[in-house]
Amino acid sequence: MNETELQHILAENNLDWNRDAWTESLDTVTDCQVLAELDKTSGKFSLQRLMTLVSPAAEKHLEQMAQQARLLTIQRFGRTIQLYAPLYVSNVCVNRCKYCGYNQSTDIVRTQLTIDQAMADAEVIAAEGFRHILLVSGEDKQFVTIDYLSELARRLQEKFSSISIEIHPLSRDEYAQVFKAGIEGVALYQETYDREVYADYHLAGPKRDYDNRLASPGRFADAGMRKLGLGFLLGLANWRVETLALAQHAAYLMKHYWRAKIDFSFPRICPATNVKSEWPHLVSDKNMVQMMLALRLCFADAGIVLSTRENVKFRDHMMGICVTRVSAGSKTNPGGYGSDEDAAEQFSIDDDRTAGQMAAVIEKIGYEPVWKDWDAAFSK
Ligand code: SF4
Repeated sequence: MNETELQHILAENNLDWNRDAWTESLDTVTDCQVLAELDKTSGKFSLQRLMTLVSPAAEKHLEQMAQQARLLTIQRFGRTIQLYAPLYVSNVCVNRCKYCGYNQSTDIVRTQLTIDQAMADAEVIAAEGFRHILLVSGEDKQFVTIDYLSELARRLQEKFSSISIEIHPLSRDEYAQVFKAGIEGVALYQETYDREVYADYHLAGPKRDYDNRLASPGRFADAGMRKLGLGFLLGLANWRVETLALAQHAAYLMKHYWRAKIDFSFPRICPATNVKSEWPHLVSDKNMVQMMLALRLCFADAGIVLSTRENVKFRDHMMGICVTRVSAGSKTNPGGYGSDEDAAEQFSIDDDRTAGQMAAVIEKIGYEPVWKDWDAAFSK
């Protein structure tokens, strides 16, 4: 894979820079164009189709979009919702992202879990029924090393059938090493696809390198990862244009790594400790629904993931429409499940229902909660 190919695709389409032409085009989409798009076969991506579905004109047609998204999701995934839990292993971070409570200049309690401490939290998560776990960390390369991840993954495999990570970018070889140790999914969000905005929000640290971050999903896909998690931080730039860039990124990966599965996540700006609290591009519930529906109607097989950042009402509503995976009972601080409840959390959660309560809600809406739909043995 040519790492600059994606950069060229985004640049040629004016999705990483100077995006005014897109905002103008979005405003000229008509009702007729939206209806014509909704008459076409659902689930296939083109930039034009997605632009129509995320346009202001499409806001009047959310009900019809939701009906199509619901049918398509049931057709591809059945009436199932997968459950997972995040395990934060370190809140030490060398970066200075303006929006994050873990940023290196905030004065918070920093905690790094030893393998044994992480396993203690993992025991709590496993006892709740989870078999899918997501390891999360700030950019803490000194502590969260390849050896650390590999050892932890080996031990976690006794309890979990699927292990993913959401940590700093690694090299292709490093991804291959952790894949070999049993990690089969990576989530890494671009935060914003707009280079100028990216530079403004990422003040210091390795994360300032936009292109390195952009190339990371290609590296972990190339290393064999089965689940590729993409997203941007909702609130930093115009969500409609960001969605187009995200989709272009996903389409690029799907073309080169058709065996892997794309998962879209929707991290929405939430209040965190000691960080900026005014945002120029906040995304309303209605906007976020439109974004999720539009992506479903362009990517029939993509996973749609909703975390506990979102509130109970919103999560319950979207689960019956297009969501395929939710977290539950989450603690967003290292040791939060038991060993160190005082460590600072990355963001506040809005849905604090336990795993059991979530499973009951899923059953109540007529869906099946899925704790395990994969086993590492399948990939051997
Ligand atoms: S968003 Fe990630 S990289 Fe940025 S400060 Fe927070 S933990 Fe560090």
